[in-house]
Formats: sequence, C-alpha cells, structure tokens
Amino acid sequence: MAKSNVTVLDTTLRDGEQTPGVSLGPSEKIEIARAIDDLGVDIIEAGAAIVSEGERKAIKQISKEKLNAEICSFTRAVRADIDAALSCDVDSIHLVVPTSDIHLKYKLGKTRAELVKMSYDAAQYALDHGLVVEFSAEDASRADLVFLTKLLKGAVKLGVQRVCLCDTVGVLTPEKSKELYSKVAGELKVPVAVHCHNDFGMATANTVAAVSGGAREVHVTINGMGERGGNAALEEVVVALDKFAGVKTGINLKKLYSVSKLVEKVTGFPISPAKPVVGENAFTHAAGIHTHAVLKYPATYEPMTPEMVGQKRRLVFGKHVGSHAIESELKKMGLKPTKEQVTEIFGQVKRLGDQGKFVTDTEFRAIVDSVLGREFEEAVKLTDLTVFSGNRVTPTSSVKVKFGDKEVVESGIGIGPVDAAMNAIKKVVEGISNIRLQEYHVDSISGGTDAVVNVVVKLTDGKRIVTARGTSGDIIMASVQAMINGVNRLLWDRRIRG
Ligand code: MN
Repeated sequence: MAKSNVTVLDTTLRDGEQTPGVSLGPSEKIEIARAIDDLGVDIIEAGAAIVSEGERKAIKQISKEKLNAEICSFTRAVRADIDAALSCDVDSIHLVVPTSDIHLKYKLGKTRAELVKMSYDAAQYALDHGLVVEFSAEDASRADLVFLTKLLKGAVKLGVQRVCLCDTVGVLTPEKSKELYSKVAGELKVPVAVHCHNDFGMATANTVAAVSGGAREVHVTINGMGERGGNAALEEVVVALDKFAGVKTGINLKKLYSVSKLVEKVTGFPISPAKPVVGENAFTHAAGIHTHAVLKYPATYEPMTPEMVGQKRRLVFGKHVGSHAIESELKKMGLKPTKEQVTEIFGQVKRLGDQGKFVTDTEFRAIVDSVLGREFEEAVKLTDLTVFSGNRVTPTSSVKVKFGDKEVVESGIGIGPVDAAMNAIKKVVEGISNIRLQEYHVDSISGGTDAVVNVVVKLTDGKRIVTARGTSGDIIMASVQAMINGVNRLLWDRRIRG
C-alpha cells in the first residue's frame, strides 16, 4: 500500500471537543486547525455547524483559511444541520445516522424504514447543494449487517462520495474489525472510513485492523481525545500503520509531539505520561539496566526512535538509576570525575530516590557540585514577594530579587495568586536573561489543606533545558522558588562552562 492510499480525517475539533470539560472558542479552534493542517491531515472535521453561533464562526473562519485539508462539518440527517454547514462554506459533511436497532429504538425513536428515508433525503439535499458527503453509520458495529450494507449501498447509489462505519461504543476487536470492514468494503465502490472509540483500549488496534481489511480512511483525534475512553489517537494510528501495515499516510511524523503538546495546552486536556508516542515517558528510561542498554544500543528498549516522532530520549535519575547513566550524564556535562566521585554521586542520587523522589537536573547538579567541591553561587536571590488576592481584587503580585548588585522589581496579574506571582517572576527572569518557562507541574506531597507542595518547572535558555524543584507549605513560595532555583542553575552552568 502506497502513500495516500489511506487518508486521515482528524476530528479533534468535533469528536475530540466532546471530551467532558473541554470547550473551544473560535480562536482556539483556528489555532488547532492550522496546526493539524500543517501536520498533513487530509480532512479536518472542524465541528458541528448546528451547535452554536460561536461554532459557526469558528468553522467559517477555518474554511476561509485556505488550508490544504478538506474542511468538513458534522451533521445529522436534518436539513437545518446541512443548511448550517452550507452557511459555513465547508467542502464536505460527515452525515451521521444511527444504524443499530438499539440506537433507532431508544435514541431516535424511528423504524429502519423511516431512518432510510430521512437519511437519503438528507444526503440528496446535501449533494444537490454541491457538498461532498461522507455517509456515516453510527453504532455500525452493533447494527444488523444485512440492513447496514443495504443502507450504505443505497447511499452510494445516490452519489455519496464516501461512507463510514463507526464503532461508536468501542466494542470491536481487531479480528471482528478486519472482518466487518473487509465485508463492507468488498460490497461498495466508494472508500470506506473507520471510526473507532477506545472503551476497551482497542481503538488503535481496531483501526489498523480495519485498514488491513480494506478501510481507506481513518478517523482520529490528537491525543485520543473524545468522550469516555476517547477516540483512536492520531499519533498512535499513523505510527502503527507505518510500522505494522507498511502504510504511509501524509502525516509529517516529526511534528507529532509538538502538535500533541499544542493541543494539550489549548484544550487543557492533559496527556498521560504513559501515553504512547507523545507521552513524557514514551522515550524515558529510569531503570539502570535499561539506561545502560539504551546508551549502548537504543533499539534495545526503543521500538521506534524518539526523533522519528519529534520526541527526545530522557534518562531519569531516581532509585533505579544505574552508574552508566550517571557517567554518561557527567560526560555530557563535560566533567571528568574520579571513580570515587562517581560512586559518591551515584549513592546520593539513590538516597534521594529512596525518599520517593525523582531527581531533577538542578538537584543532580547540586549533588555533582558538592561532590566535586565546586562552590555553587546563586546569581539571583529572592528578597521580596507579595501577593494580593480575594473576591474584590485582580490577583496581583510583586517580586523583588537581587541579581549581582542590582535590584530588580516586577509585578504581574493573573487568574489567581499563583498565576500572578509566576507572571511577575517570569518578567524578572526575562528581564535579566533569555530563560523561558516551558512547563509547570504542582503536586502535594501530603494530603490536606496544610499539605507540603512540590512544584517542578522546566526552563530553557534555547540551548539547554533544566528541571528544578521548589518545595514549601506555601504554593506561591514553592512556585517562585522553583523558578529561581532553575534560573540560578542555568546561569551557573553558563558561567562555569563559558
Ligand atoms: Mn465518535
């Protein structure tokens, strides 16, 4: 199978947006649409035009963007839905009709005959208005196969350009998926799309199996976003098709990680560290035996290279660390410690790890400095931190630091006191260096409102990335301290390394 034999329909902006707690405004939808277009998807399901004024504004704007991808709106078999899609100037519609008896009876309250009539009326109406129609059978995996095939054949006769079978509640297995899609694809003259949900964790496997059965289009979302267990994840499906089915989609794999991160940021829907391909742990090695092997020959514990999907290999130091990982890191830092010093550094990392912590770069370097007898100098010292917050004020913070013999003061506002303080400290840091905050994580070490919190930040000066921790009973202090610890570490590294 060659490239473009399988097309990719991304539904992050429609099915993905149905993730509980996620709602996107027009500017957010446009930002994501541009990114997934740049990634190389063939079709963008931008939303359901009937939903709201804001939704129509977003879809219309995305249609105007002159993206490479075909722009599609979800519709039901209802003229008002199709009119709304037309008003947004989309290229195509994803016309979804329930097909299982359980959906017909309990959701739609219609007979099979009524469903056939209303869905054909809608398809004809859309075709008459110049739309490309993807005729989609909802809950197809639980529908009667004879009825389903007849329904789809009739739609193809009307002129719909594509059909889709949805595994709406994720009940297929790879074996059943391959069988279903090959049976239906064998009966129809138009491309068949596969749309899988992940209720049993098999969405990716079922999608790949459907393609080997003859499906020619995959429906996916970035990060597997979607209702309940989510949809088939774009990043998983395209690498699995590449590796196991020899299918090249038009997706630029090297952009998978950055687009995944962008979608995480814009939607606020967090990616599990254990998420395949794009998770923070997908190429992270902690156990000593693993890191040793990976440093010698990456394929020992990496079934694909991190570079292939725009990721980086990470070695995490904690109680499972091996001495080879530590030696390799010291070498990367340009240091030549003695054997005894390596043993001492190794022991200290293990002890920190035994306390249940992973060791941040900043802590690791502090250990190295102390073992090598290097005097660490803090370039930036916090002298003053105030925060105002409450129901009648905009959360506001001012931060004063000593930087060499200078005093630097900045203030910031935010959606809450932590945000305000972080905005103020970010301004301080940006005023004295080119260091930027990349990530911010907070967890509480103990339970309760008096818990000790642990803030870990990831900072970069464009060349290097460091992680640093701040720990305090006060979340604002912990946040600001983590920033200052990381900044001091980057500035110190720069000074001693020149
Ligand atoms: Mn769906």
